[in-house]
Amino acid sequence: MSETASVLDPRSIILVAGVMGLMMAFVIFFLRRSYPASVGGLREWTLGPVLSFGSTLLFAARGFVPDFVSIVVANMVLFQACIYHYVGSQRFLGDSGSTRQWTVLNLLLGVGLFWFMAVHPNYPARLILFTGAVTLMFVMHTRLYMRHSSDDLGMRLMTGVLVAQAVVAGLRGISAVAGLAGHGIMDNAWLQSGYLVMYSLTALFLTIGAVVLASDRMRAEFEFMATHDTLTGALTRRAILNLCEQELDRCQRTGSDMALLMIDIDHFKLVNDTYGHLVGDAVLRLAVARMQRVLGEGGHLGRYGGEEFLALLPGSGGARAEHTAEQLRNALLQPFDADTYLASTWATSPKPPTPPTASFGIASHRGEGETLDHMLLRADTAVYRSKALGRNRVEHAG
Ligand code: GH3
Ligand code: MG
Ligand code: MG
Repeated sequence: MSETASVLDPRSIILVAGVMGLMMAFVIFFLRRSYPASVGGLREWTLGPVLSFGSTLLFAARGFVPDFVSIVVANMVLFQACIYHYVGSQRFLGDSGSTRQWTVLNLLLGVGLFWFMAVHPNYPARLILFTGAVTLMFVMHTRLYMRHSSDDLGMRLMTGVLVAQAVVAGLRGISAVAGLAGHGIMDNAWLQSGYLVMYSLTALFLTIGAVVLASDRMRAEFEFMATHDTLTGALTRRAILNLCEQELDRCQRTGSDMALLMIDIDHFKLVNDTYGHLVGDAVLRLAVARMQRVLGEGGHLGRYGGEEFLALLPGSGGARAEHTAEQLRNALLQPFDADTYLASTWATSPKPPTPPTASFGIASHRGEGETLDHMLLRADTAVYRSKALGRNRVEHAG
């Protein structure tokens, strides 16, 4: 036996791959403890490599334990590992994955493997059965990621690894059909070793892909939490002010227009006093949803303070800003639809309250030398004038 062949003997490859997988399972397990429950699939992604490792021990125990255990049970445990990985991906991507029907397929696989081990011993037939099931699983898994395709690095890594897995499993099945499979898994043919190395590497990359995906998701969630107000979903004060600074910078450089709208809901205290705080919260959420619908892609809305909002209108001059402000004012006036109101809130009153009006102050960009603080101050002064002049109106800053 050559030296290379002895280094790459199948038993060692299977064991090393299993241990690597187990270490990655530890990584996911510890990530899971610090991740919010909204990141789904981590439990399954931990169970997958653990089962994989279990199957490794069973495969490697060939000759030391009954063949039923090292062949039938080992393959079933490995297939169950693939199932967990797949269902983990489904849950991570927000689908309602279930292991049930796949586990039934696994039991059928076990019966088939048993048949070709004990009743009609036939290694290629066992290999065809197993690779057939595994290829189907990887194809389904790949399709899942393709359906949710994105430019995300973790998603692309997953898709690539799964395609490779499906191809390797498929080729292995075809080689078994073509009579190239050898006589058993411990058969030290180069083809066998090649397949095992590929399997091990892709299994490891699957878990790395899972870790990358989960960390990316986590970062995105924290980023969203840091920039969005929890109650209303509008941008936080800091986030909207950052955007305003950036836009102001652009205006100074390119000479383009921009306008700020300061929006203060009228007599909001009365809403709380009349209907209670929960209804007040609901009204704020609905008001933001309405304003966001009007602004669409053309503007940004932030929660400046309790019931005060700041809209940034990039590219808008005074006239266009006034038009937008009127649209917002009108949108806020519309009566609440009872169904939307009840569905969107922890509403305590069965009848939606009358929507409160709002007062608007516009500050448009005046050109060179303008600072954000100055624009905010002007918008705020304009709001005060709206209030003084009777509320539910739009005023321009001087
Ligand atoms: P004005 O027309 O002069 O603006 O009167 P107002 O009552 O809207 O103004 P004021 O500033 O006196 O009161 C604002 C109220 O908004 C008081 C505060 O309890 C309420 N508020 C602020 N944030 C929230 C919130 O998140 N939820 C609820 N329910 N109420 C809030
Ligand atoms: Mg106020
Ligand atoms: Mg107010």
